[in-house]
Amino acid sequence: MELVIRNLSKTYANGVKALQDVSLEIPTGMYGLLGPNGAGKSTLMRILATLQEADSGSAMLGGIDVLRQKHEVRKMLGYLPQDFGVYPKISAQDMLDHLALLKGIVNGRERKSVVDSLLERTNLSDHRKKALTGFSGGMRQRFGIAQALIGNPKLIIVDEPTAGLDPGERNRFYNLLAEIGENVIVILSTHIVEDVKELCTNMAVIHLGRVLLSGSPEKALVSLEGHIWRKSIVKAQVEDYEKQYKVISTKLIAGRPTIHVYSEQDPGDGFQAVAVDLEDVFFSAIRGFTNQQEHAA
Ligand code: ADP
Repeated sequence: MELVIRNLSKTYANGVKALQDVSLEIPTGMYGLLGPNGAGKSTLMRILATLQEADSGSAMLGGIDVLRQKHEVRKMLGYLPQDFGVYPKISAQDMLDHLALLKGIVNGRERKSVVDSLLERTNLSDHRKKALTGFSGGMRQRFGIAQALIGNPKLIIVDEPTAGLDPGERNRFYNLLAEIGENVIVILSTHIVEDVKELCTNMAVIHLGRVLLSGSPEKALVSLEGHIWRKSIVKAQVEDYEKQYKVISTKLIAGRPTIHVYSEQDPGDGFQAVAVDLEDVFFSAIRGFTNQQEHAA
């Protein structure tokens, strides 16, 4: 199955163009939607999750019209919103049981087996009796995935799921996502490049409501090969270099700024060639330093 999004646009009442003509083809597997805060990711996720209306455009999931056949979509959908919101005092097990009932699993025995298996998959069996209020960030996100998996969804949407997790929790969460992403469409929205690097076979970069590039991370890396250069400079020089070069990022390494610049030829001047990283892809796209045609999906 494939999710095909065509020319999706959304302007909020205050005039903010959150999505402008967004077109994407999202196959089975893990799909990374990468963009800085305010890019329009949550707006797109909420529209796909049937929680918000688009102004124009279409989204088809197999033969289902996502924007119109909301009931059908919801039956196939698992959604982990950016802010899961309320963490009540009830236990993980009871909450999952309740949510499974709402999702239409009315047979008690069947529900118990679904809940048990979800707790197992998300490694929460030992905490099944614990109140959700007492869960750590990582446990909350794993619970969020457990509830999103109720009813074997074919489309799973997770919005900024790793924000706020420590490195250990993030790794455990990556492993969980990697396991579920095999036979279903998982859309992972994130501003964290590492999330996409670790997990996603396909990706898009979105900024100010527009898709800047889409396709496989490898393709995006290859298209920048030989075009990214690095130099360690002193703080006072940063502004000068920004005027003179297409600086895509400035990072402190051991307290010293290291800049990455985009240049088709060797800029000389002490610059060294860089083995291109997904961060280079992301920042050069955001700054508009890539040939968009090269990345067209
Ligand atoms: P992201 O998830 O990538 O951070 P969002 O989809 O939340 O992006 O937001 C995209 C843009 O739309 C931002 O400029 C944001 O301020 C604006 N926006 C989001 N929700 C609303 C809303 N309900 N009303 C008005 N503007 C909004």
